[in-house]
Amino acid sequence: MKHLVANWKMNFVNLDVWLKDFDLNNISEEIKVVICPNYLDIKDLYKKTSETHKKILISAQNLSSETEGAFTGQISGKMLRNIGASYSIVGHSESRLQGEDDETILNKVQTALDCDLIPILCIGENQDEYSKGRTEKKIKHQLTENLFPLKNLSNGVLIAYEPIYAIGSGIAVQNEHLEEVSILIKDLIRDNLGRDLTLVYGGSVTSESAKNLAKVDGIDGFLVGNASLDPKEFANIAQSLE
Ligand code: PEP
Repeated sequence: MKHLVANWKMNFVNLDVWLKDFDLNNISEEIKVVICPNYLDIKDLYKKTSETHKKILISAQNLSSETEGAFTGQISGKMLRNIGASYSIVGHSESRLQGEDDETILNKVQTALDCDLIPILCIGENQDEYSKGRTEKKIKHQLTENLFPLKNLSNGVLIAYEPIYAIGSGIAVQNEHLEEVSILIKDLIRDNLGRDLTLVYGGSVTSESAKNLAKVDGIDGFLVGNASLDPKEFANIAQSLE
């Protein structure tokens, strides 16, 4: 089963127009389509997709590391679950930039699982780390700090490998690099958790770059930012996963 995740970030999307132009009929049953709208649109999108686009699953873009209580301005995984989300992104580089540390991210992955949400854990090196040959060190560090201490992963966790320099840059990573990193991630997960997890790639995926990226062994789908705002382009990306 492949995953195709749309991260709409903080962009305005007209749900009716987007859904009208997103033709699920041409998308294989073997692809799980997950959409991450802003928090305020989750309920509405869930309602609309339940009527016309049943195969679409909904994800939050983040969640609180706490389940309930005096945490002003936070949104709990339970609340997200109650309004139709079944996934949540955790540790996106744009959230890490706003000060989320490794311990918080670990707690968020655990909280998502406790709330019956599948976490989409984002990891990846920045340009400086890549240039200095420190990709492996960074990936090991993030998996060790953000994932491996967790024990009960029965619902599974989706890993999104998102090299920071590829996000929003218009330039996806080279296949050789992606293949090396995907082997590294899968081996580390198998060695430390004794199981496999789904691995998607994110960073300037378009219908054009997807054709090539989809050839990489070990990549089980894509997390798409900018290009997912265009429903036809997003549907074309799905074609490359078939
Ligand atoms: C992202 O925000 O996770 C992302 C992959 O963005 P883009 O596709 O625009 O690079």
